Amino acid sequence: MVRFEEVTKLYPPDITALDRVSFSVERGEFVFITGPSGAGKTTLLNLILRSELPSQGEVYVEGRPLSRLKPRHVPGLRRRIGIIFQDFKLLVDRTALENVALALEVQGLSLREGRHRALATLEAVGLKGKENKYPPQLSGGERQRVAIARAIVNRPALLLADEPTGNLDPRLAEEIIELFEELNARGTSIILATHNQSLFIERHRRVLVLDSGRLIN
Ligand code: ADP
Ligand code: ADP
Repeated sequence: MVRFEEVTKLYPPDITALDRVSFSVERGEFVFITGPSGAGKTTLLNLILRSELPSQGEVYVEGRPLSRLKPRHVPGLRRRIGIIFQDFKLLVDRTALENVALALEVQGLSLREGRHRALATLEAVGLKGKENKYPPQLSGGERQRVAIARAIVNRPALLLADEPTGNLDPRLAEEIIELFEELNARGTSIILATHNQSLFIERHRRVLVLDSGRLIN
């Protein structure tokens, strides 16, 4: 699904965000990436999205080398990847349903079809009955569920999450991770970056550890 081959990312003049990082994530895997703040986790995710290009080495997504991807094919790559951030990035003046349905608009689905699929996705993340609420009317855990619904409504093969539980209390964080487990069980590959070890302890998932840009495990 994703392969890093000796990837180095430099930010001039003197930051080595990633230092000769190599690893693969297989289709269907659920992998955690951890390490302290500044270790390179977000940089690694941005390279998979081709928001950044490596200074050296190559990133492959579904076998394709991203440095050779033509700019006009980048949106297509990103449509195949769902992204979830710590701060949700929901549109506050749109309902939960509209936030999710908007992710489908670019696909040329009819409005009716889009609404139907968005509703089904909100239901799948446990938000049945909340579809007409605006983000400020929802709790933190509910807002993050809307963001997850938005990320998965296109049925991406790969889900990237960057500190997705960062603003949630431990119980809600646990619920969100359980939701990721369910998505993974239904076939979505997941890469979840977090500095919070309690999210993966006792989960028996592969954990990649970054320290100052180096993969140390
Ligand atoms: P993490 O997500 O693990 O906190 P980051 O990938 O955000 O780590 O950052 C890794 C290093 O790269 C840090 O030293 C950070 O300051 C630096 N960095 C990240 N993005 C940029 C950028 N766009 N320009 C310059 N330095 C950056
Ligand atoms: P564009 O579509 O213009 O290329 P980007 O993909 O660079 O936009 O992302 C827009 C914003 O979202 C930027 O501020 C970027 O740092 C942030 N961003 C993108 N991908 C991630 C990620 N995986 N984790 C954290 N922040 C991200």
